[in-house]
Formats: sequence, C-alpha cells, structure tokens
Amino acid sequence: MGSLLSAFADFLFPPACPLCSRDGDDGFCGACALTIPYLSVDVRRVADVEGVAVVVSVFPYAPPIRDLVVRAKYGGDPHPLTALAARLADAAPPAAELAYPAAVVPIPIARDRLRVRGFNQASVLARPLADRLGLPVTPWVLRRPGRHPAQAGLSAAGRRRNLRGAFVAPTAFPHAVLLVDDVVTTGSTLAEAARALRGAGVPRVAAVCLCRAERKDEVPGQK
Ligand SMILES: [Zn+2]
Repeated sequence: MGSLLSAFADFLFPPACPLCSRDGDDGFCGACALTIPYLSVDVRRVADVEGVAVVVSVFPYAPPIRDLVVRAKYGGDPHPLTALAARLADAAPPAAELAYPAAVVPIPIARDRLRVRGFNQASVLARPLADRLGLPVTPWVLRRPGRHPAQAGLSAAGRRRNLRGAFVAPTAFPHAVLLVDDVVTTGSTLAEAARALRGAGVPRVAAVCLCRAERKDEVPGQK
C-alpha cells in the first residue's frame, strides 16, 4: 500500500461517509451516524471467556456494521473501519471497567493475510481506543507464528482446535493488557491470546471488540 500516496489522496479527497458516500468528514455523515445500531449497554459486557476478565463489544455483527467490516477486510480499504474505530473509542467504557489495562494489544493476523490485506483490522481499531484511554499500543506483545485457517465456518470446538498455539507472547510484559479485535463469536481467539499472555507473565487481560456475532455454531444442530 502506498501509504504516503493514500494519505495525500485523503488530503485532496477526504473519504466519504462509508454508508451513503456523502461527505462524512472522514467518518459517518450526520444522518447515518444517527442510524448506526449499537448493542444496548446492558448486553455489551460478557465475562465468560476463559482467562479474560471482561469482553466488551459495542455493535452487533449484523448489517450495516457487518457489511462495513467485510468491505474493509476483503475490499482492501480500511476507511470503513477507521470510521467505526472512532465510534468504538467513544463508546468503550473507562479503564476501571476494563481491568485497568496498561497497554492495548491488537489481535495479530497471520503474516500472509496481512500481506494481502495491507492492514490489520484490529490495529486500525486499537489506535483511537488507546488514545482515548491514554495507553500505548504494543502490537509486538503478541505474534501469530504460523498459518492458521480462517475461523469463520468452524464449530466452537473446531475454533479452539484451530487456534491451539496460535499466539506467542515473546517477552514478559505489562501486568494488564487490553486486547482489541474486530469480531468476537465464541471468544476462542481471545482466550487463546490470553493464554499466551498468561504464559508470558501477564496476569490480567480484558478485551474490547467492535462487534459481537451470534454464537450460532454453539446452538445444537447448527454445526
Ligand atoms: Zn452517510
């Protein structure tokens, strides 16, 4: 990606609202901003992911948010995610409700996927959130060593198997980490990242995710 070139293009032609293509002033336009569906506050927090104190998600993984995430990840343009990242940072709870993190760590993606996509969606989401919380982004805390097939379409057990050993935390690190990811479904990705962090001496892990998907694959008969 010619990031300098695209920065210059953005300067000349600020990205339009990702939902309606009108002038969004680098985010959603005023009209679309009013229509974005948020998860209601009382269902944003879940605490049932192993090794993760709390997982806060802000949007349902449903249209139109899902379409924006998919467009960004598979269309090679991070702008819809940038617009959502600002909303995520605004809507995320304060540090006290996220186990007082010391650093923000985007969930890494495999290197070959990064090469194709040109950006890590979790990193795009992590920056404004870290700024709002006044924390550093420290992506090197976790890395993804091997190739891992995409999680989509796998059952809950399949997702856990697929991810065993998927993350490496190379050095001992801050006492508390806030993981960031785009979509949480069963939480197996977060749990595996938390396991790697625990192994590196990080006792406290919380997570913020842009979207929460329905756990359809845990419903009996819907494998
Ligand atoms: Zn709009």
